[in-house]
Amino acid sequence: MNEYDSNRILDLTKKINYISTKKIEEANCYILNTCHIREKATDKVYHDIGRLKKEFRNKTKPIVLVAGCVAQAEGEVILKKEKYIDAVIGPQSYHQINQTIRKLERREKFINLTNFDVIEKFDSLNSIKNTDNKISAFLTIQEGCDKFCKFCVVPYTRGAEYSRSLKEIVVEAKQLVDNGAKEITLLGQNVNAFNHDKKKLSDLINEISEINNLERIRYSTSHPLDFSKDLVKVHKSNKKLMPLIHLPVQSGSNQVLKAMNRNHTIEKYLDIVRELKEARSDLKFSSDFIIGYPGETDDDFQKTISIMNEIKFINSFSFLFSARPGTPAFNLKKTNQKIAKERLIIFQKIAEKIKIDYRKSLINKNSKVLFENKMKINNRYFGRDEFFNSVIVESDENLQGKIKSVEILNVNQNTLFGKLISNQNHENYAA
Ligand code: SAM
Ligand code: SF4
Repeated sequence: MNEYDSNRILDLTKKINYISTKKIEEANCYILNTCHIREKATDKVYHDIGRLKKEFRNKTKPIVLVAGCVAQAEGEVILKKEKYIDAVIGPQSYHQINQTIRKLERREKFINLTNFDVIEKFDSLNSIKNTDNKISAFLTIQEGCDKFCKFCVVPYTRGAEYSRSLKEIVVEAKQLVDNGAKEITLLGQNVNAFNHDKKKLSDLINEISEINNLERIRYSTSHPLDFSKDLVKVHKSNKKLMPLIHLPVQSGSNQVLKAMNRNHTIEKYLDIVRELKEARSDLKFSSDFIIGYPGETDDDFQKTISIMNEIKFINSFSFLFSARPGTPAFNLKKTNQKIAKERLIIFQKIAEKIKIDYRKSLINKNSKVLFENKMKINNRYFGRDEFFNSVIVESDENLQGKIKSVEILNVNQNTLFGKLISNQNHENYAA
């Protein structure tokens, strides 16, 4: 979501004649877009500002803005502590970035914009064309969260759940496709809670799949509680919808899920997985896990390992519990950190083994790959298969933006290596 936000900030600032640069020493305005989900986020801000100060020691100071969730959560504190920062702008206020930059050009100091103007934000962003020109593009359709898991800062930094209108999303999706996008990933903190004027995520998927030249649709991140029957069905009926679902489970233990306030059981989670598999048998899943949540026993941890072994997630993101100020879990008695770290290592080893075994099973099988860009080395092209695995092939033909059948020859932890199939109607697809 921050990548999407950064692109939109770039589109906005173009209106006042700012352009992006990859050379930090050339910048006269520096915008740091931040994430607050786990610890060290604020430390990273000070660290980055330190680097900036060094770079500009004998030069004119650039305008410095801190945007995103760290700005939202710790705005006043950072402004007071680090005088090099001119303004903090929360994620629901970045539509005000141009007027802020203009004020700072006039040397007005220490601006704090951390209101929750989510409707105003999208209203003003709708008038600015999305110029992102990637083959695979992001599109935020929903923001904020009303679920209040005890560990999570999102409800406090991104605010209450809000869904954009179907109409404005379709307009933006068409802009992205006109710019060359072949794949769109619909984004939201709880993307499947999307609901605007009784239109749900399934309606939206069906609507945007009508856009010519849009080949693939994905969505992230889903919450188990919002997995409605219509969404399950759309996985069966809509061929543009890709067969990988990111569905965070966090823990395999009902006791821990309850303590986290996830409001569902592991049985309910397994039911959703089963229903989805019945709708489309080749579906695969990826997930998020929090290891060492306060009160997690060894028995709870074993249950998390069991769910990993049962579902065999093809990608897992596991994190040590991080106590976030302002959340209900902040003051809970922590699990012994040595034990928690040991559990994380054990868990990640199991997850990696499952991932590599899955990848090895793809060798000699065919995948449909959407190629995103040409790499710097030789005639290599980078793309992704339907299950979001990275694939690299060599080709003399320009593959950018094309979907091709690829035979997988070799794999490593992060990438599948293959060759284009000369007869593109070949069978034997990976599932
Ligand atoms: N809304 C999604 C859901 O409920 O499943 C997840 C969105 S959250 C922004 C992304 C992931 O960050 C979560 O799935 C969780 O695993 C991780 N996360 C959030 N807060 C955390 C914390 N305090 N400590 C460790 N991991 C955390
Ligand atoms: Fe955070 Fe997701 Fe829970 Fe909302 S549902 S509080 S975003 S983890």
